Amino acid sequence: MDKSFNAFKMAQDQFDAVADKLNLSEASRELLRTPMREYHFSIPVKMDDGTSKIFRGFRIQHNDALGPCKGGIRFHPQETVDTVRALSMWMTWKTSVVDIPLGGSKGGVICDPHNLSDREQEQICRGWVRQLHKNVGPLRDIPAPDVMTNGQHMLWILDEYETITGEKYPGMITGKPVGMGGSLGRTEATGYGVIFTVREALKEMNLKIDNTTASFQGFGNVSQYAIKLYNQLGGKVLCVSCWDQQDQTSYAFYKKEGINLEELLNITDRFGGVDKIKAKELGYEVLPGDKWIEIECDILVPAAMENQITGENVNKISSNVKLIAEGANGPTTPEADEVLKKRGIFIIPDFLCNAGGVTCSYFEQVQCNMNYFWSKDEVLGKLDYKMTTAYHKVSKLAREKKLYMRDAAYMISVDRVVRASVARGWI
Ligand code: GLU
Repeated sequence: MDKSFNAFKMAQDQFDAVADKLNLSEASRELLRTPMREYHFSIPVKMDDGTSKIFRGFRIQHNDALGPCKGGIRFHPQETVDTVRALSMWMTWKTSVVDIPLGGSKGGVICDPHNLSDREQEQICRGWVRQLHKNVGPLRDIPAPDVMTNGQHMLWILDEYETITGEKYPGMITGKPVGMGGSLGRTEATGYGVIFTVREALKEMNLKIDNTTASFQGFGNVSQYAIKLYNQLGGKVLCVSCWDQQDQTSYAFYKKEGINLEELLNITDRFGGVDKIKAKELGYEVLPGDKWIEIECDILVPAAMENQITGENVNKISSNVKLIAEGANGPTTPEADEVLKKRGIFIIPDFLCNAGGVTCSYFEQVQCNMNYFWSKDEVLGKLDYKMTTAYHKVSKLAREKKLYMRDAAYMISVDRVVRASVARGWI
């Protein structure tokens, strides 16, 4: 991986290009190419062995013109401020493209949950809130799960927030466990959302989903549910790749007759790492992790981290690939994007493709505010409607103006945020 890669620079370059296309004023550019607020802080934790450790945490609020800031919290050993900045900006475009009344933010803590006990992780979550309780909240900034965080982390954060404030605020955070203010369907939402957009794209391309094959990068929450729905609709997944904590590298698991999701889930840890010895016994070919991109299939789904499809590997993509659905945030570098554009590979850009999670988070907040919870079918029906509507709005603009899908999505999102900022009298 390119060590000089900077996600924030990439997010700013993408924004600058759209700003030119939309002919934005200097003030609009200044406002939107930089986050509005940033919090950087230390979280002291007493570890299980009695030692003290200090973890660095961030919360970056990119923009709240459309509503309170919204975005996940990542736990990752390689987290950087610039990555969180980029992710906060992409959240602004994400909430905007699906037209929900929320802004964009992101949080991160530099830590590796693989090496932390539950108690230590709980202390990080509670410490995070102790530093930030004045700057987050249901009407300010609402966190959610992201890479290596889940409903349990959200509940610890909520509990600390409610302990400090002395009141109950179920809408302070989303992605909570069902029964504790969580929404049915939230766990599935990001992955299902990816496939709702894939389904619509395939229809437009006159391809029958049950004749298609796919290769996935990542086997965490997004991939697992995306594969589930894709399989239900008849698609065949030939390959998934994932991180192997023991070997500190990734492996790709390939089966030409199609992977069996249940079988793989049975040998997968809670971070999405597949047991390679057991996988071999089950007849999977175990390949180096970067092979996922070379698989001859119709659809590629990068659903792990940023900076994965790059100038270096983009030409390894097979000529069979017709569609790339970006389940991850920022998986494709601008250099790779240019190549994909030229090759005519259809892209469902990240902040549209993976917006199902935040859309369902919005539904979770709505249900918390009403204190009345919908059935799973109702949640997923509303999610499908939102994702499908957003997809078609973008693809219509792309067709009419002959734009690359990413550019069309950016134009719709940025335009909405600019209009809201103008309406508020900011610019
Ligand atoms: N972390 C998810 C994302 O990147 C979900 C954010 C949310 O639900 O607020 O979209």
